[in-house]
Amino acid sequence: MTMNLINQFGRTVSSESLKDPEKARRLLLMGYRLQEKRLKFFPDKNLPDSAHYVARIVMKNIIHALARPENAAMVSIFVPGELLTAAGLTPYSVEALSCFLAGTKCEQAFLRKTEEEGFPETMCSYHRVFLGAALTGILPKPKCTVYTNLACDGNMMTFPYLKQTYELPGFYIDVPYEKNQDSVRYVAGQLRELKRFLEEVTGKKIPEEAVQKAVSNSRKAAVNYQRQLALRKDHDPVSSMTNELYAIFMCHLLAGSEASVKYTELLLEDVKKAPKGAGLHVLWMHIMPFLQEPVMEVFNYSDTIHISACDFVADGFQMMDASDPYEAMAAKMVNCIYNGAVDKRIEMAERLAKITNADGGILFAHWGCKGTIGASGLIKSSLEAAGLPTMILDGDGCNPANTSDGQVSTRLQAFVEMLEENREGKSHDTLCL
Ligand code: SF4
Repeated sequence: MTMNLINQFGRTVSSESLKDPEKARRLLLMGYRLQEKRLKFFPDKNLPDSAHYVARIVMKNIIHALARPENAAMVSIFVPGELLTAAGLTPYSVEALSCFLAGTKCEQAFLRKTEEEGFPETMCSYHRVFLGAALTGILPKPKCTVYTNLACDGNMMTFPYLKQTYELPGFYIDVPYEKNQDSVRYVAGQLRELKRFLEEVTGKKIPEEAVQKAVSNSRKAAVNYQRQLALRKDHDPVSSMTNELYAIFMCHLLAGSEASVKYTELLLEDVKKAPKGAGLHVLWMHIMPFLQEPVMEVFNYSDTIHISACDFVADGFQMMDASDPYEAMAAKMVNCIYNGAVDKRIEMAERLAKITNADGGILFAHWGCKGTIGASGLIKSSLEAAGLPTMILDGDGCNPANTSDGQVSTRLQAFVEMLEENREGKSHDTLCL
């Protein structure tokens, strides 16, 4: 769809959502189904196979969630996808759905709705768009909701509120701050209860083998992901901000699925095939502002600058060593970089920068994301002390209108120029030696 058509479509869905939310949902679904067909028959030729695959899988996930809500679960992103996969439910998260709504240009109507209901403007826009969509009635009532305190306080407002509004069965996973074996055992116990909860709401027994299979799929996906990461120093596949964003959904929402394994297999093959370019390597931290024009201009399809790793994705594809599947899922939550003290986030960034030979790091400080904004100064200073030039890029991943394109462009261009100069300086030093 051209930008004009998307804008027109977004305006129609927005105005219908206030008058006739059922009709607005049908329209939205029609648009998403058309987009899915377009992705199937006319994939973006500039991107590799893994990007074509992931775009369709994530699109289908949203279509299923909206079309078959009785088979869907509204979740926060760090809820183990493996258990939902084993239960045969389609999970959809605040971030995934809000990104699609924003991509369809109807986020403003939902932001206004949330504001009218008295939710603070300082709240993260992923949550506000999601809540607004739920409040208009465009989001159908799902089977259940599953949420956790990991990794943001927005979860503790959005999910209890929606649980009550929709009168939904809900399950909450409490993840302690401390990263130790006691925390892992405590979370594993809750995940066993979550399995029973899912059996109750679906009325279907979840065989233990299905849980083991899902966790085994996550282990395979993690191995593939780590293998491609190890190659990134010398291989630069073409990518886009949207493609990088989808990877976040594959390692969380769709964790444990066959699709997640296939995606990482394709990614590994794409990385192997991609030659080494002369471009800069960037470590991206946190979520992708996939709609912010100046960011897209710099990174989309670029052969001069590459996102060689993202900490959110690498954390999602972490190795799951524990032999007990519940402990393996629990350890992934407890050891998540967004849990506990910020030093783990810094360690992860340093490790990724080293593996990928990163020239610089960009930490996206998304509007209203208190955890990331609060930690950003320390992350930047620590990475710079370790020799990685780092930029804190302020913006809004879900409401690009909330950020000035001009400012983002100026700051980003200046940072990229600085990285280029650093690189030239390094090669000059090497020649002089
Ligand atoms: S961006 Fe931050 S506040 Fe918003 S949903 Fe993600 S972790 Fe939560």
